[in-house]
This record gives sequence, structure tokens and C-alpha cells, in this order.
Amino acid sequence: MRIGVDLGGTKIEAIALDERGRETFRKRVPTPRGDYDGTVSAIAALVQAAGEGNVGVGIPGAMAGELVKNANSNWLIGRPFRRDLENALRREVRIDNDANCFALSEAVDGAGKDARIVFGVILGTGAGGGIVVRKQVIEGVNRIAGEWGHNPMPGEADGRPCYCGRKDCVETYLSGPAFERDGRDLARYHERLARALGVVINILDPEVIVLGGGVSKEKSLYTEVPKLWGRYIFSRTVATRLLPAVYGDASGVRGAAWLWDE
Ligand SMILES: [Zn+2]
Repeated sequence: MRIGVDLGGTKIEAIALDERGRETFRKRVPTPRGDYDGTVSAIAALVQAAGEGNVGVGIPGAMAGELVKNANSNWLIGRPFRRDLENALRREVRIDNDANCFALSEAVDGAGKDARIVFGVILGTGAGGGIVVRKQVIEGVNRIAGEWGHNPMPGEADGRPCYCGRKDCVETYLSGPAFERDGRDLARYHERLARALGVVINILDPEVIVLGGGVSKEKSLYTEVPKLWGRYIFSRTVATRLLPAVYGDASGVRGAAWLWDE
């Protein structure tokens, strides 16, 4: 059995999948925000409840060696999270970025299951991205492959501050809170998303870009953005498909469980 845990800013969810990818357990609890030891204990309790099996955990950040970096759940930063979880659970734990887990889930048996190259994007509290090639997550030498949300937003320079310390990151224009702040103006959002994804298509040229997170529920994204992105892409025809996540909010936790398939 594989156990996946998705550590989010407001909730922690755990599932267990059997060998055919069917869910046999699911539970969620509120995230003990700001409380590192409480976060480790909450995950340990969920995993114990899920039963025996390999454990994968998706986190809103990355592991730099033994320590967490780039986490917007900032109470994790600089902590030896994997070691502490393994000590609490007495089993080996695999940890990856939550956007990578999302992209992996959708590439294994979701919207990108027939694609060789999948770019997964979470348009939620932030704007995360992950790259999966032939059903393998691309991590990169700096462990930041796919971190498109902290690229400068093409064509915008409002000076919007980002939690990462830079200004005008893609995330400050395309995250859920940014969409709300801009009055849920969909025409403007379509145009900005087309521009930001055009950059990705020119570099990665994926068959599928799959969207998750709260903003991804706006159905017009999937018809309008592909009409707009052509002018930013270095090709007369664009075969890339923009698709909603098959597993919706469950993609992250499923991808964490699939970390043991790689
Ligand atoms: Zn940023």
C-alpha cells in the first residue's frame, strides 16, 4: 500500500492507495499553523491511522539537502522535516514539492496520462508549477524545476511585492488572492495566464498543461487562454492542450502517494 500526505496551509490530508490506485483510506485535519512540532505530530497520527505502507509527503516548499526551503508555510523553513518525520513514524519518507506531486498525479493517471511531457500548475494560495517527463518528476540541480510562479510576470510592472522577496512574480498576478484582489476580472486574468504560459510552452513544449487549485475551477480558462497564447508562442500551430485536473483537490495527495512509484 502507498500512503500520501498533502501538507497544506490550512489542512493536512492523508490517503492510502492500494496497488491498483484505488483509495482505501482518506482523512483530513486542520494544519497546526506556526507549530512545527504539532505539524510533525499531526502527520504522524494521520499516517498511523492510514496503516502500513510507504509514505510520500507533498509540502509547500522544497527540500534543500536535509532542510526545507522556499516554503510559504514558513514554520517549516530550515527544519530537518524528513528526518523528524522518519523518527516519528519509524519508516522511510519521501518528500516533494506539492506542485510536483500534483503534476505527477495528473501525469500518472489524470489529465496527462497519455502525455510524455506534462506541466502542472496550481493556481491557489500561490502559483506553483511542476514538470513531469515520462512519468518522472524533474527536480533540477537547485530543486526548483517548474517554479514558474516566481518568474517575473511578462509585461507587468506594478511593483507587487511577493513573499519570496522579489517583486511582480507571476504568483502576485495569477494566484487565487491576486485574482480576488483584481476583482475577479477574467478577461485580464485570461490574458495574463496566456502570457505566463506562453513562456513555459516556448521552453518546455509540453503536450499537456494541467491546472489545479481554486482558480482552475473557472471553466472559461480552458477555452479562452488557448485562443490568446498563440501570439506569445514561437510556432504557427500550438498542439499543447490546457486541461483541468482530473482529480481536482485530491491530485496533490495522490501524487504524494505515487512518489514511491518513481
Ligand atoms: Zn516570488
